[in-house]
Amino acid sequence: MRPSACPGLLRIVPALDGGICRVKLAAGALNSAQALAIADAIDEHASGIVDITNRANLQLRGVKRGQEDALIAALLDAGLGPQNATHAFADDVRNVMVSPAAGRDAHALFDTTALASDLLSLLQGDARCAALSPKFALLLDGGERLMMLDHPHDIWFSAMPSGDRAEPLFAFGLAGCPPVAAEHANALAAVAASDVIALTRALLHTFLDLATPEHARMRDVGAVHSPDDVLAHAVRKSGVSLLRGEPVERWRREPADALRRLGAFQQRDGQRWHVGGQPALGRMNSAMLRGLAALSQSNEGATLHMTPWQNVLLTDIGTANVTATLQTFETLGLATSTQNPLTRVIACAGSTGCAKSLADTKGDALTLAARGVPVQTQVHLSGCPRSCAAAHCTPFTLLATSPGRYDLYTTHDPRERAGFGRLLARGVTIDEAADLLNASAAPPFDEPFDA
Ligand code: SF4
Repeated sequence: MRPSACPGLLRIVPALDGGICRVKLAAGALNSAQALAIADAIDEHASGIVDITNRANLQLRGVKRGQEDALIAALLDAGLGPQNATHAFADDVRNVMVSPAAGRDAHALFDTTALASDLLSLLQGDARCAALSPKFALLLDGGERLMMLDHPHDIWFSAMPSGDRAEPLFAFGLAGCPPVAAEHANALAAVAASDVIALTRALLHTFLDLATPEHARMRDVGAVHSPDDVLAHAVRKSGVSLLRGEPVERWRREPADALRRLGAFQQRDGQRWHVGGQPALGRMNSAMLRGLAALSQSNEGATLHMTPWQNVLLTDIGTANVTATLQTFETLGLATSTQNPLTRVIACAGSTGCAKSLADTKGDALTLAARGVPVQTQVHLSGCPRSCAAAHCTPFTLLATSPGRYDLYTTHDPRERAGFGRLLARGVTIDEAADLLNASAAPPFDEPFDA
């Protein structure tokens, strides 16, 4: 089994503000009983705070010393553990990202809910997966309009139109993202939906066959073996038929729309809606969780979903209840409109929770939001280059250099998207950053600005 320092449900790791316990949610979903159980657990055993992560999981902070076992027991009792809680690896490998609106999004080509559940069972049930890194992650994209497409995944599948074929197809690739723009890397091949599980098992085993102890991710193996070699190895193991050639090379995924995470959107049945709201900086307290659980219970069949944008989606709301649901979100402190600048800033734990942080990113992000952030942009504040709050490129990043000071980067130019992008200004205060961001809609930045 691969050793890990990452937090998990069964492995609480220390931080400045106490222990961190990460709860991996199947497809990001949380039922009302589980939300209440977490609210009680964080009040009793931790600091009363939970963060939504950029993989649509939950991270409980401030776990009290000596309370770890009681917290773990409460979470397992609520059904938040892996299928087989005696296998510690089964918790670590639960990394399958789907749309928070899977099975409901009106634009989807395929309902991925059953297939995602089968992928999770494969990861938790195959003993060889104990050797995978807890960061090794799969993406299963049904073609939803609300879909995170910017996070690189070790293996990704994306539904593509199948023409005359009876069965839907999934394009797939390794160590990357589904291609949306012309300059993105093509899919490797496509496979029938019924072969996704067999191919995934073969790709996982191929990775484990080829990886050395230093290789944690598919990109590490990809640095030594070509994608075609990896694929040929997997096909020999699985025997699945692949579609290759021009239709796959030409295929581009329809752009997604992250703004659908906020407000109300009609689901595919035309009868119900999903409603989304953003807790400030993805952080919720127990009162918020209890309010969301009550809202879920008062709407029959409604389910809470965490999203990779660190917000909450409540699905299956009847038309008559949409307005009241939006109002309750706002009352609980979840912003439902992009007009609220808090929907445009994200920040890592910062110096109040993480010893690596050079600044109080959470506090500074709230100050920045109060100063205003331009509409249709996003600003990420990171306490160090590890970028825990964002696995994707944000238009602007403030990277801490000392308390209250940051380097400002942008990825506005698609040619400058490596790392955080192009350096715009060095060592600026939050006030100076706000001025620069709010002026950014007008003239382009030419030279880095030194504060
Ligand atoms: S990005 Fe750096 S400073 Fe922020 S939480 Fe992660 S490790 Fe800590």
